[in-house]
Amino acid sequence: MLQSGHIFIISAASGTGKTTLVSRLSANQPDIHISISHTTRMPRAGEQNGVHYHFVSRSEFEEMIANNAFIEHANVYGNYYGTSLKAVKSLTQQGYNVILEIDVQGAEQIRRLLPNATSIFILPPSMAELTERLQNRGTDSEDVIAYRLKKSREEIAQSMLFDYVIVNQELTQAEQDLLAVIRSVGLRAQAQSQTVTRILAGE
Ligand code: 5GP
Repeated sequence: MLQSGHIFIISAASGTGKTTLVSRLSANQPDIHISISHTTRMPRAGEQNGVHYHFVSRSEFEEMIANNAFIEHANVYGNYYGTSLKAVKSLTQQGYNVILEIDVQGAEQIRRLLPNATSIFILPPSMAELTERLQNRGTDSEDVIAYRLKKSREEIAQSMLFDYVIVNQELTQAEQDLLAVIRSVGLRAQAQSQTVTRILAGE
């Protein structure tokens, strides 16, 4: 029987490079899939519906909440974001390791609901570097950047609630660290019980 995949929660302050890191990892590792969230925020340039997010209206999102379609959802910077139960279930049942790239509010909800999920917080090398990255992104006004930095401090302060903390100083190293965490979870004795059964059965 196919072993069901594990769930990894990955959070970071915005501007930490989490999306690039996670996209690179899943592109390089066929067994690791990123869950595609639903959001009410407008697509940014280059973002595609069904690829980066499922972009939905506020009323569609609220209907999904009412129908218990989300395992977690949160309001981030004035927009709704949520993880659909159906998408995650389908991926884990196919044996994939699933990454939920979600904010700290969502992470808290998942930790309570799914205590076996592994949570990882990605840190920027410093606040100065984070400020520079947000400014260089060129997508937000000064006011929005100041607000995001304030929120970032609050989010970073919560990193000790996570199982693992990785500093994204250099992308390749951070990707290796993240992969090491994911592989170590798959190698836990508990995760290997079917392997042991198979070997003892002489298969
Ligand atoms: P962005 O708008 O920059 O893509 O994402 C803003 C924040 O929302 C990020 O911290 C991102 O991880 C988070 N986010 C994305 N999808 C979800 C989700 O499904 N649930 C929650 N709680 N947060 C999400």
